[in-house]
Amino acid sequence: LTGKVTSWRELKTNTLGNVLKRLVQRSGEPVIRHAVSRAMKILGHQFVMGRTMEEALARAREQEAKGYRYSYDMLGEAARTEADAKRYFDAYLKAISEMGQASQKGVVEGPGISIKLSALHPRYEIAQYERVFPILRDRLKTLAIAAKEVNIGLTIDAEEANRLDFSLNLIEAVFSDNALSGWEGFGLALQSYQKRGFYVIDCLAQLAKQHHRRLMVRLIKGAYWDAEIKDSQVNGYEGYPVFTRKMATDVSYIACAKKLLSYGKLFYPQFATHNAQTVATVLHLVENRRDFEFQCLHGMGQALYNEIVDKNKYNIPCRVYAPVGSHEDLLPYLVRRLLENGANTSFVNRIVDESVPIARLTQNPIKQVSALKNKPHPAIPLPKNLYGKERENSTGCDLANPIVLAELMQSLTILEKETTKAASLIEAAEEEIEEALFAANKAAETWSLTPVAKRAECLEKMANLLQDNRERLISLLTLEAAKTIPDSISEVREAIDFCRYYAMNAKQSLEKPELLRGPTGEYNHLGMHGRGPILCISPWNFPLAIFIGQIAAALAAGNPVLAKPAEQTPLIAYLATSLFYEAGIAQDVLQLLVGRGETVGARLVADLRIKGVMFTGSTQTARRINQVLANREGPIIPLIAETGGQNVMITDSTALPEQVVRDAVQSAFGSAGQRCSALRVLYVQEEVADKIMGMLQGAMAELQVGDPTALRTDVGPVIDADALSMLETHYDFLSKEARLIYQVPLSSSETSKGYFFAPCAFEIKSLSQLSKEVFGPCLHVIRYDISKLDDILRDIEQSGYGLTLGIHSRIESRIQYISNKVHVGNIYVNRNMIGAVVGVQPFGGEGLSGTGPKAGGPHYLSRLSTERTLSVDTTASGGNASLMMLNDAEE
Ligand code: FAD
Repeated sequence: LTGKVTSWRELKTNTLGNVLKRLVQRSGEPVIRHAVSRAMKILGHQFVMGRTMEEALARAREQEAKGYRYSYDMLGEAARTEADAKRYFDAYLKAISEMGQASQKGVVEGPGISIKLSALHPRYEIAQYERVFPILRDRLKTLAIAAKEVNIGLTIDAEEANRLDFSLNLIEAVFSDNALSGWEGFGLALQSYQKRGFYVIDCLAQLAKQHHRRLMVRLIKGAYWDAEIKDSQVNGYEGYPVFTRKMATDVSYIACAKKLLSYGKLFYPQFATHNAQTVATVLHLVENRRDFEFQCLHGMGQALYNEIVDKNKYNIPCRVYAPVGSHEDLLPYLVRRLLENGANTSFVNRIVDESVPIARLTQNPIKQVSALKNKPHPAIPLPKNLYGKERENSTGCDLANPIVLAELMQSLTILEKETTKAASLIEAAEEEIEEALFAANKAAETWSLTPVAKRAECLEKMANLLQDNRERLISLLTLEAAKTIPDSISEVREAIDFCRYYAMNAKQSLEKPELLRGPTGEYNHLGMHGRGPILCISPWNFPLAIFIGQIAAALAAGNPVLAKPAEQTPLIAYLATSLFYEAGIAQDVLQLLVGRGETVGARLVADLRIKGVMFTGSTQTARRINQVLANREGPIIPLIAETGGQNVMITDSTALPEQVVRDAVQSAFGSAGQRCSALRVLYVQEEVADKIMGMLQGAMAELQVGDPTALRTDVGPVIDADALSMLETHYDFLSKEARLIYQVPLSSSETSKGYFFAPCAFEIKSLSQLSKEVFGPCLHVIRYDISKLDDILRDIEQSGYGLTLGIHSRIESRIQYISNKVHVGNIYVNRNMIGAVVGVQPFGGEGLSGTGPKAGGPHYLSRLSTERTLSVDTTASGGNASLMMLNDAEE
C-alpha cells in the first residue's frame, strides 16, 4: 500500500493488526484512511452494482448479452424514521420509473425491483399492526401499480421470521387488489430455512388460484439465521423458527422446490442459490420445464452461473439481485455478504477450502438428516436449555405468533375485569408488625436448619407457579404498575429466573460445608447458615421481579423474610406471596407487611430482631436506612442497597447512528424511563451530533404513548402524581436552561386519564446542570468534543453514581479506555443498556448507586448468610488414626 512493507512474507508472518500498526507508524493515519477507503470501494464494487440506477443499468447491459437479467435493490437498512421511509419509498418509485424507461428503450431486458417492507415504515412490527398495516398496504400498492404500468417485476424481500405473518397479510391484500389484475410480475421471496416455509407455499398457491394469476416465488434459504437463533434464545421462545442444521435447510429447500413445481402454472419459480449442489438438484427436479429461472447475488456464484446461462450448455436464464446505492449505505449489506461468504457451513466458503473434499460437498442432505434420527443439535440447545442442566431458562411469549398473541390478549381481557374488582390492602398495624417479627424470629432456626435441597425445591416450585400464573401476573402488572405488555412479560421471566438461579446457587454454594486444608489430625469445615429474619423493601418499578428476587435470595440462604412492598403496588406483592405459600413456604417464614416506608418500613428497620436489610429504591432512603441501622444497639447487620444512577451513554462518530438512536430510545423511554438502569444522558460527538439528534427526533415521533394494557403502547404513564409533578418541574427548568430536541405529543383520548408525561429530549451543556437523577421519560443530550473525552469521563466520575454505562463505538481501544476509567456496575457496549438478565448480567452499582453484591450474581447469597467454621481434633481420643493409616498405606 505504501511501498514500505518489505515483503509479502512480512504480511503473512505478522498479524494484520501488527502490520496495520506499523503501517500507521511509518506512513501516518491519512494514508491508511485512504487505503481503507480504497479497499471498501473495491469490495463495494464487488458486491454493489452501482451507486445510481444509471450506473447499475449501464453495467447490467454488458452482462445481459451473456444471459443474465437483473432485479435491483436499493441499498439501505430498515427505516428508523418516517423521513427514512419516505426517502426509501421515493427511491423505489424513481428506480421503477428509470427501469421502465430503460426497458422500453430496449437498454435492458425484463428488469425487476426487490423491495424491503421494513424500508417502507419504521414500525413494521406486529405490535403496531392495526396502525401500520393500512399505511404499508397503500405504499406497497402504489409501488406495485407503478411496476405494473412499466411492466417490470416486483419482488418483496423476506426479512425476519417475526414479520412473516405481517408480510403475508400485506401480500394477500395487495395481490388481491383489482388494480393489479392481469399483471404477473408480483412476487415474493420465500425462506426455506424457516420451518414454516414449506407450508407457506400452500397458502400462496391458494391465493394465486383464487385470483387466477401467477405469482413469482423466489426460493431462498435465508439471510438472518444467526439473528433468528439469538432472538429466540434472548426471548426464551419454545423453539426456533429456523432449522438448526445446515443440512436440514438444504432438505427443506429441495422439499419447497418440489412443492413449488408441483403447483404447475400457479407459480413462476425463481431458484436463488449459490450452491452448485442445490442448482444440480433443481436441474434434476425441473425435468423439461423451462418456465423458471435461477437467481444469484451480484458478485457471487459467477463461475457457476456462467455455465448455466451459456447458450451452448444449459441456456437457462439467471437473474442477478443487484444492490444499488452509495458507499454510505453499503456497510451492513457488505457485512452480511462477508459473513455469508465466510460462514463455515456456507457452500461458497467450503468450495474454496481445499481441505474440504468434494465428496463431502456433494453428500446427499436427505440421507444426512435421516442419519441424525432427530437428535438435537449439540451446540444449539433449545432456548429453555440455554443454561444447561442446572437451571431452566424462563419461557417467553412469542407475540409475533398470532395464536399465542390472541390467547394472551383474550386472557388479559378476562383478567382485567376480575382485577379491577379486587380490594385494596390495608396498612399493617403495630400489633401485626409485632406478631410478624415474633413469628419470624421463632421460625428462624427451623428454616435455617431446613435442608438446602428442600429450600431450593420450594423456589423451583415457585418458578413453575409463576410460569403457570403468567397471564394473571401480566394483567396485574399492567393495571397496578402501568407496565406495558412486553415489559410485563419480561418482568415475569425475570422473577422466574431469580427463583431458579438462587435455588441453583444455594445447592452449589450453601449445601455442603467446605472442607478446608490443614494439618493432619483434625478437620476444618466452613459452613454457611441463615442470619435470621431479613427485611426486604422493594420498589414499585419492578414490583414483581425485585420483590421476588429479594425474597427468593433471602429464603434460599435460610432466612425468614418480612417483605414490605412499595405502597403503590401491594396487590402484585400479595399475589406473589400467595404463590410462595403455594410453593411450600410456611406462613411464618414469609410475611407480607404492606404500608408506607415512613411507618411500617421505619418500624421494621429499627427492630433488633431484623438481622439484615435488602433495599432497592432511592439513594436518600438507602442513606436513611443506613443511619437507623448505625444507631441501633446490638449487632451490626448487613444492608444490601440498590439505588439509582445518573446513567450515561457515550457514543462516538464511528458508531452506527441508526443503532445509537435505536438503543438510546429503548434505554431512555422504555418502561417510561422508570428503570434504575435507564439512560439519562446521551453524549454525542459534535461531528455527528446534528445527524443523531435529527434521527432521535424522528424515532421519538414514532413512539406510541398511551394505555399500557394495549399491545401497541411503547410508553405508559408514570407511577403517580408525585412522579408526574417532579417531571413537570424538571421540564420547566429545562425549558429555560436547555434546548428542546423533541417532545412526543400526547393524544388526548388515551392520555387524559392517568399520570402521563410526554417523553422529551433536551440538549444540555454539561452534566453539572443536572443535580439529581430524573426518574422518567426525559433524555438529556450533550454534544462533546472528542479531544475532551477525559473531561467527560471526569464529570461522570464526579457525579458519584456508578450504575450503568452505555458505549457505542467501533474503536476497540476507546471502548477499553472508557470502561477502565468509568467505575460503574454494568457496562453495555454497542447495545441498549437495560434489561439485565439474571445470572448472565448480574445487576447492581457502586458509589452512590449501591452497596453490592449484585442481584442475580454468584456472590449475593453469601452476603445473606453467616459463615461458621467447625474444627474437630480427631486425635483427641489418644492417637491420630488417619495419619497412622496413611503411614500403613505407604509401607
Ligand atoms: P448455502 O451455503 O448452501 O446455504 C446457506 C444457507 O444455510 C443460509 O441460509 C444459512 O443461513 C443456512 N444455514 C447455515 N447454517 C445453518 C444451520 N446450522 N442450520 C440451518 N441453516 C443454516 N435472504 C433473505 O433472507 N431474504 C431475501 O429476500 C433474500 N433475497 C435474495 C435474493 C437472491 C436473488 C439471492 C441469491 C439471495 C437472497 N437472499 C435473501 C440471501 C440468501 O438467503 C442467501 O444468499 C442464501 O441463503 C445462501 O444460500 P446458498 O444456497 O447460496 O448457500
